[in-house]
Amino acid sequence: MENKKAKVVVVGAGLAGSEAAFSLAQNDVEVILLESKTIEKNPAQKMSTCAELVCTNSLKSLKPETGHGLLKYEMEKLGSLVLKVGHETRVPAGDALAVDREEFSKKITDILKSHKNITFIERVVDNPAALKEEFDADFVVVATGPLTTKGLESWLIDSLTQDDFYFYDAIAPVVDADSLDYSKLYFKDRHKDPSETADYLNAPMNEQQYYSFVEALKEAQKVPAKDFEDYQFFEACLPIDIMAERGPDTPRFSCMKPIGLEFEGNDSPYAVVQLRKENLLGSAFNMVGFQTRLKYPEQKRVFRMIPGFENAEFIHLGSVHRNSFLNSRSLLNFDLSSKKYPYMFFAGQITGVEGYTESSSMGLYVAFQILRKINGKEPKKWPVETGIGALINYIMTVEKPSPSSINFGLLPQVPLTKEQRRKRAGRKKLKKELAAKRANEALDRFFDSL
Ligand SMILES: Cc1cc2nc3c(=O)[nH]c(=O)nc-3n(C[C@H](O)[C@H](O)[C@H](O)COP(=O)(O)OP(=O)(O)OC[C@H]3O[C@@H](n4cnc5c(N)ncnc54)[C@H](O)[C@@H]3O)c2cc1C
Repeated sequence: MENKKAKVVVVGAGLAGSEAAFSLAQNDVEVILLESKTIEKNPAQKMSTCAELVCTNSLKSLKPETGHGLLKYEMEKLGSLVLKVGHETRVPAGDALAVDREEFSKKITDILKSHKNITFIERVVDNPAALKEEFDADFVVVATGPLTTKGLESWLIDSLTQDDFYFYDAIAPVVDADSLDYSKLYFKDRHKDPSETADYLNAPMNEQQYYSFVEALKEAQKVPAKDFEDYQFFEACLPIDIMAERGPDTPRFSCMKPIGLEFEGNDSPYAVVQLRKENLLGSAFNMVGFQTRLKYPEQKRVFRMIPGFENAEFIHLGSVHRNSFLNSRSLLNFDLSSKKYPYMFFAGQITGVEGYTESSSMGLYVAFQILRKINGKEPKKWPVETGIGALINYIMTVEKPSPSSINFGLLPQVPLTKEQRRKRAGRKKLKKELAAKRANEALDRFFDSL
């Protein structure tokens, strides 16, 4: 009897969908690729072609000792279409892989549409569960991105996620630990016995510093809401600049409240900015409650007014934008298949990662796991020391989902020798080099074990 080819329906020909479709097709899987944009563009889309880069044209750094460099190394090993075409359509941008966005998108579209194993169909999908039967497919991949169409969003909420679906991404800035002035900061937790180790680092303000800071927040330039971003904030997670606009004391009675954070001797600061360790390395701190609409240069200017932040370097800045994503930890298995619909996989930004490269890598990861299933093998966990493994580990373990781009803080700590720890200058660079080396070695071992 002739063996029937495996068949996969991929919904969404964005970055993750294009990667997944191409990778599967290259491995002799029949792919049905469904894309809505020629029928119904979302407000961020301008082109009718696949894998559109809706904002910057940069796929970020190529340097091996960066998070994005790590991911690229792994994606290349998985036969990434995005990287291949990215290099072919590269424009000068130093160490970054920036592309001619139109050429990039057009080339990817041509490759996908002319592939012998891919059938491209223009379609707005409202019910992905119906696709398995309709196309007699083995698997369905949903890769519809941060601006998933309303109909599909409703299906996801009604049939899969209920409350575990998020519409906005209110991101607080993350600051590089090495760039802070610790002489002005102190460790203390609000609700912990002082004899226990504190998790929070605090930046105290006196009255004058506080009101100048609130005034600066109010006056700073904000990113205007786009037409698809009718901001409706949850009261519990208001951007700090909105709090400042509500009244000069609002932040002080909210995330900046000093209660429980008294200095030794019981004097109290007037207000406090709390910082929480962002990662296992302890190399970065999240600014608690500081999600914000301030423009990026304004964030740098205003947040450097915080005592101890005079020379702060930000790993990423805060933002608020529409972003549909689900709670992967509660809804998906580690191979990104749905717990409720085991034949349905999710890929790209909808899983809770953030960024072009990150989303693309999730498309490749899902294709990798589906190919294993097709070949009768169990899903395989990626080493957490790698870029892809660290992203999966993040979305599958984070308690309060908040999309993350790749950064070294997601990787386990690299042990340093005593001597290496003593040298302050160059320590950060060394840590990154060691983490990158370890990631590549872990990846090689992982592929050898397959
Ligand atoms: C406004 C905005 C700006 C961004 N800027 C950047 C940036 O500068 N740099 C960066 O790294 N990241 C940026 N991102 C984040 C993100 O990485 C990108 O959005 C990335 O494209 C996500 O990849 P994806 O494959 O998950 O989704 P997408 O690339 O968005 O692809 C999803 C595809 O699915 C299609 N689709 C949606 N619903 C349906 C449906 N019901 N049926 C069929 N097809 C459907 C869409 O038309 C689209 O082609 C931005 C996001 C937004 C929203």
